[in-house]
Amino acid sequence: MTATVYLVGSGPGDPELLTVKAKRLIEAADVVLHDKLPGPGILESIPGAKREDVGKRAGGEWTPQEYTNRRLVELANDGKTVVRLKGGDPFVFGRGGEEAEHLAEHGIPFEYVPGVTSAIAGPGVAGIPVTHREHASSVSFVTGHEDPTKDESAIDWGALAATGGTLVVLMGVGKLPLYTDELSAAGMAPETPVALIERATWPDQRVALGTLETIVEVRDEAGIEPPAITVIGDVAATRARVVEFLRNGVGPEADQK
Ligand code: SAH
Repeated sequence: MTATVYLVGSGPGDPELLTVKAKRLIEAADVVLHDKLPGPGILESIPGAKREDVGKRAGGEWTPQEYTNRRLVELANDGKTVVRLKGGDPFVFGRGGEEAEHLAEHGIPFEYVPGVTSAIAGPGVAGIPVTHREHASSVSFVTGHEDPTKDESAIDWGALAATGGTLVVLMGVGKLPLYTDELSAAGMAPETPVALIERATWPDQRVALGTLETIVEVRDEAGIEPPAITVIGDVAATRARVVEFLRNGVGPEADQK
């Protein structure tokens, strides 16, 4: 009998932010296929015998997506109940859509189990609401992974700057200088507040603040590394009004700029 594959979001990393459903499915699963993004707290709670890491391998190579796709089909056809555990929400820059299509093509039943996405929770735990009646009536979720100077880039940074809303960039640590330049060139004000939230909800969460003009320097001084969220827009400055009373994030914080 073909088993069901569960495409499950783990949330940003705090084990208490797993959904009740995610926790139940993980406990019931025969195999949990995961990468590193669910974070140490969640991964350590899953017995090693049923975990399969399909993230970065020793040597820094990524497990090819084709391997993960093939493995999902193989396990389901073997009658194994599989949880494909992904950081945040499976359908937000998580390739969940591709995996769902692959499963459907192979006649494998699957269920999507939403997770708390780092795109909203990351800013939130730093005291930054992605929308705010006074500051942002729209929010765009963007991948920072593409090289904006390449002609084939699918992202129109000028159009994003023109929305006047919040921009939340995922996978955007490395190319921060490139897309902040694009936004400046498109006329976004240099003093626009920008925040970086590293390892949101992990025990070593850090937050660094700057502006469109200073954030690259802030990143380098603080040594911010992936996984981190970049929030660009006036909402990033509202953190200052609440931070004294904010109890999210217990780790050391980067210098406030
Ligand atoms: N599906 C995930 C996103 C996967 S893309 C989600 O919904 O959250 C990977 C990117 O997500 C990382 O490069 C980083 O930008 C972001 N990310 C995921 N977890 C994070 C966390 N705990 N803290 C900060 N950023 C995180």
